[in-house]
Amino acid sequence: MNKKQQGINTLCAHAGELADKEFKGAVSPLYMSTSYAFEDVEVKRYPRYFNTPNQVALAQKMAALEHGEAALIFGSGMAAVSNSLLAFLHKGDHVVLQKTLYGGTSNLVVEEFKKFGIEFTFTKDLTPKAFEKEIRKNTKVIYIETPSNPLLTITDIEAVAHLAKKYALVSMIDNTFASPVNQNPIDFGIDVVIHSATKYMGGHSDILAGTVISSEENIDKIFHLAKNFGGSLSDYTVWLLERSIKTMGLRVKAQNENAGKMAEFLEQHELVEKVYYPGLKSHPDHELAKKQMKGFGGMLSFELNDLDSGVFMKYLKLIKPSMSLAGVESTILSPAKTSHALLSPEERKEVGIKDGLLRFSVGIEETEDLIEDIQQALEETRKDMLDVRI
Ligand SMILES: *Cc1c(COP(=O)(O)O)cnc(C)c1O
Repeated sequence: MNKKQQGINTLCAHAGELADKEFKGAVSPLYMSTSYAFEDVEVKRYPRYFNTPNQVALAQKMAALEHGEAALIFGSGMAAVSNSLLAFLHKGDHVVLQKTLYGGTSNLVVEEFKKFGIEFTFTKDLTPKAFEKEIRKNTKVIYIETPSNPLLTITDIEAVAHLAKKYALVSMIDNTFASPVNQNPIDFGIDVVIHSATKYMGGHSDILAGTVISSEENIDKIFHLAKNFGGSLSDYTVWLLERSIKTMGLRVKAQNENAGKMAEFLEQHELVEKVYYPGLKSHPDHELAKKQMKGFGGMLSFELNDLDSGVFMKYLKLIKPSMSLAGVESTILSPAKTSHALLSPEERKEVGIKDGLLRFSVGIEETEDLIEDIQQALEETRKDMLDVRI
């Protein structure tokens, strides 16, 4: 790109916006039509074809945010994941994926790919060597997620992109946890960037959406599959998502700061055993995270020292025990009881998820209020435990 890249908050506020030519309103007009003229027009528009005015405008915003050429907006993160993978994988092909993936993505691969005759290998080890070892003659795609859920592991984006180029594979990343505010994988040579827009892009826990960003050529390939599968996002939600993204830079930067402070607070607390956050010096891949991330994100996990995590969550007053993540409100969950409940205790142990692990999605509340909530819940839980012992 020759033109100097605009800053993230400018892109969030303005990239791709539609001009209101008729009334000169300040925001993009909303075009709700599912029916458009088909004669004497340049583009035959239909919402399932990803080409209504609002869909095209938001796709331009997504492309700008991730430094790509083009994008598609989907009805969910999983629609973006499945359409992207299946656009590049045919019968007899093979894909290498990292083991620590979003649960829905693992399920898609394990439960559906056999039907399509697509082979797959998961690597537990996230080093470039481990990925390279799994590449076969029929490998077509390499798929990573960093930071990962729920242990915030970091995968070397540049090294994976390099491997993909060496073996002529398509590299894909789920960039949901970082958001485009904190990490732009295309700058490191990744081909396809996927987001669950349900998370930081939506940011208010009220929109289900997904997006994929890449070159014009790759997006065209994904489009040809996606128009048949059907998974585009309806225009009203597209319009709401555009509105949400306007404040994404502000929200995510506030969440980065809060999460950093919470991680430090938790790490020094005597009742906390361990904290997983890429911004902490104690994180094994802190240096790598620093190299590829602009901020360390709003997600962290921690283990309690001998305290029951279920009891602890009941004592929280401000932080909500809740599924999903990345909203402006802080939420917390137990991966062993939710996202990883279907795994056996042995399988959970193998991926490093202890029963007392808590995943914390840090919101935009005042840091002091969050600290106070955790402090009082830890103390109440300790008192409970002491009572039981007496
Ligand atoms: C939520 C999530 C998804 C799936 O997105 P949906 O919008 O729920 O379909 C994919 N990847 C990651 C990392 C997620 O957190």
